[in-house]
Amino acid sequence: MHAIISGAGVAGLALAGRLALDGWSVEIIERAPAPRASGYLIDFFGPGFDAAERLGLLPALRARAESFDELRSVDAAGRVRAKLPISLVAEAMAGRYLTIMRPGIIEALMDALPESVRIRWGTQLETVHDDGTSVHMLLSDGDRVRADLLIGADGVGSRVRQLVWGPHGGFVRPVGGLLALAWIGDDAALHADLDGRVAMQLEQDRQLVVAPLGETGVTGFAVLRGIAPEGAREAIGELGVLGRRALRGIRDPYIDDVAQTVVDPWVRGRVALLGDACAAVSLLAGQGASLAIAGAERLAEELAFAKHASELRAGLAAYEREWRPIIEREQARGRRAQATFAPHTRLELESQRAMWRAATLPGVARLVAKAAGGVSKAH
Ligand SMILES: Cc1cc2nc3c(=O)[nH]c(=O)nc-3n(C[C@H](O)[C@H](O)[C@H](O)COP(=O)(O)OP(=O)(O)OC[C@H]3O[C@@H](n4cnc5c(N)ncnc54)[C@H](O)[C@@H]3O)c2cc1C
Repeated sequence: MHAIISGAGVAGLALAGRLALDGWSVEIIERAPAPRASGYLIDFFGPGFDAAERLGLLPALRARAESFDELRSVDAAGRVRAKLPISLVAEAMAGRYLTIMRPGIIEALMDALPESVRIRWGTQLETVHDDGTSVHMLLSDGDRVRADLLIGADGVGSRVRQLVWGPHGGFVRPVGGLLALAWIGDDAALHADLDGRVAMQLEQDRQLVVAPLGETGVTGFAVLRGIAPEGAREAIGELGVLGRRALRGIRDPYIDDVAQTVVDPWVRGRVALLGDACAAVSLLAGQGASLAIAGAERLAEELAFAKHASELRAGLAAYEREWRPIIEREQARGRRAQATFAPHTRLELESQRAMWRAATLPGVARLVAKAAGGVSKAH
């Protein structure tokens, strides 16, 4: 059986690796000319952690993980208001947690990819036609290809979804009017001042997180409510000391609306969607990459022994039946997390701050660590 996967992201690579091991011939179509170096800090835990362990990816992920000593909550004047030892976060999750940059996950997945998997970089789908027996595609480089199965693992703005399901409009749902920015920069002075710690500032409708990276690097992440992309830098600068310092390192940031994708059904004939293309939980749920890997494993398991059309149909149906309820639960959790991520009311802000202050009390830190669920952003 031959599968074509659109998108060499987290979901696409994880699926390709596993399907190839199960004997499928697999080809990936990726729009970017090479693996993308841009990225952001990801808290990796939950179902994807378990799936990564089963797929043998954990040692490679651990080798690329970042490590920090402490999460410090600061105020506008840069004063430290609360401290949470990061070892407690990992401890609260029984060690089944790591913080890693997105390119680190991509590298680990690429390294594990069997040689038989071909990736066509700098290419995308132009047309898709499913005749019931095969899927026929025209690629942007002019080639025509056919497959038994086409998977759209091409992210929130999925090309496959656009070609087979229709325009983006109805499928991408912004959450809470929030805008996210993530960046990697170089700032030796800020790196030295952070000294192995993550700094976080929480305000009404705003959150800023800054962490040291490598020798002199800094990575940052901001969530802003009711701000247009053009106004994002100014809003970050207005946050105070940490915001002004972070601004110096912001070059070429990733900027996007915080959004979820809702698609029904996920499968049409021999075409199926995977990962953010159909099931983005938004970064508020903090599990998109984890769920992308776990979803890929689930889909691959359902397809492992499919040799005929009826088995393929049954496998795709089982994937959607089993995996959709988990995604819907995480999407609901993501929407609820707005109040903790970028508290909208004074009351929401004060209760979040009280939780972080309590983290300095002996014994309470463990509970807060468990509630926070991660350090790359406080949720
Ligand atoms: C700022 C931010 C912070 C996040 N933090 C976390 C976190 O802490 N924990 C967590 O688990 N998740 C986090 N996520 C979410 C996580 O990154 C995504 O949910 C996850 O990467 C989804 O994987 P995917 O493979 O479905 O999509 P992606 O990783 O987006 O991959 C899609 C791939 O498809 C390619 N593509 C796009 N269009 C086309 C096309 N037309 N043709 C061919 N290829 C195409 C893209 O280049 C890309 O390689 C965060 C996301 C953001 C934006």
